[in-house]
Amino acid sequence: MRVGIFGGTFDPVHQGHMIVAEQVMNELHLEHVVFVPGGIPPHKEASSVRANAEDRFAMVEAAVAGNRRFSVDRVEVDAGRPMHSVETVGIFKERSPEDEWFFITGADEVSNLLAWKEPDRLLEQVVMVAATRPGYDLSKLDHLEAALRNFDRIFPVECTRVDISATGIRRRMLQGKSIRYLVPEGVYAIIEQRELYAGDRKRAEGGRLREGSL
Ligand code: ATP
Repeated sequence: MRVGIFGGTFDPVHQGHMIVAEQVMNELHLEHVVFVPGGIPPHKEASSVRANAEDRFAMVEAAVAGNRRFSVDRVEVDAGRPMHSVETVGIFKERSPEDEWFFITGADEVSNLLAWKEPDRLLEQVVMVAATRPGYDLSKLDHLEAALRNFDRIFPVECTRVDISATGIRRRMLQGKSIRYLVPEGVYAIIEQRELYAGDRKRAEGGRLREGSL
């Protein structure tokens, strides 16, 4: 079976992620895509991750519900520590060595691959899918060719450009703006019910209030 692994912070998971997963699955004839929300990712400051791992997991669970070819896995959440992709992928391969594994990532992240742990070993284990936007300049990946033995295991897939990021969503929330439809409906419901990202806004409002009262 051809399976995609889609790792991310998913803070929160949004429609950009869903479209990439769907279009990569379609282009590469994958049977299944497993979303793997990270604990605290090794390359991000712990303080920059806003929702806790269980809330981020619940949001991904809601996002994939209704698509039987998508699922979510707890491996990184349960580890409770930062995990490098090469380690995560190793666990999936051990679970089902007969499957063919694809690791889905935004092309901008792939261009930073030399900073990842053991990129060549990662590419031995998986085909790395670089999800590009239309018109993405593939020469941005050129520097990897000289540096990586397994450069030919990086496979660009052009996806519909969706200018949504988790950072942008959190910023809108901070500004009190609507994020409805930027995330799947089930994710929106969880954000509302659990009042996720609301703390940031309250802190900002508190700051303004204090400034105003000075
Ligand atoms: P943040 O803004 O907090 O950095 P993000 O929106 O990039 O978050 P991540 O969870 O870090 O979300 O992303 C997981 C993967 O999805 C990464 O490989 C990232 O490049 C990719 N990705 C995120 N948003 C998009 C998008 N709109 N289009 C294509 N790929 C995306």
